[in-house]
Amino acid sequence: ASFEEYYLSAEIKKALDLLKYQTPTEVQRKTIPWALENKDLVVRSQTGSGKTAAFGIPICDQVEWAEKKPQALILTPTRELAVQVREDMTNIGRFKRIKATAVYGKEPFTKQKEELQQKTHIVVGTPGRVRDHIERGTLLLDQIKYLVIDEADEMLNMGFIDEVEAIINELPSTRVTMVFSATLPKDVENLCHQYMNDPTHIEV
Ligand code: AMP
Repeated sequence: ASFEEYYLSAEIKKALDLLKYQTPTEVQRKTIPWALENKDLVVRSQTGSGKTAAFGIPICDQVEWAEKKPQALILTPTRELAVQVREDMTNIGRFKRIKATAVYGKEPFTKQKEELQQKTHIVVGTPGRVRDHIERGTLLLDQIKYLVIDEADEMLNMGFIDEVEAIINELPSTRVTMVFSATLPKDVENLCHQYMNDPTHIEV
């Protein structure tokens, strides 16, 4: 298998070449075709499987550069993961000049606010700080078309369920939702059942 099999834009293919991603990993092979068709997905996969690019490639491909408001929101349980995912999005979206912003606790709110005031296509963040930005009006959600909940089991283990639900309730209902999780405990299943539209389940 090769990335040539997917209908990806030339800019994305060029970025994958630069990253030396020659063949899609298993999670990418199973996820990217569905994501490009805008299906809701629940993906059981481990860190290190290439899961970030599994959602990052289709999102960067679909994002419209000219739109000024954020089009994708990616929730992560930790700020380390938020920073890593932001970096991966920037690399994959490099030749489309996609701007990704990370927001997380323990960093000044105003710095992030200023970043969000610039054109930002993709916002990556931890649930508490994302919710803060929403409540203070510094993160606008009306153009969000993609929601990713990364490491959902970790996120709920850390007690973020109320924040995650509050955030989802503010999002446009016509959107694509992708949940990535190493395990699928009951609380993650419930979240998927409640907030997703007939999701396809993918096991890696
Ligand atoms: P992740 O599971 O998203 O943390 O990714 C694990 C590592 O695999 C990261 O260092 C990625 O840069 C790398 N990676 C992701 N997809 C590919 C690919 N198709 N080919 C080679 N390396 C990849």
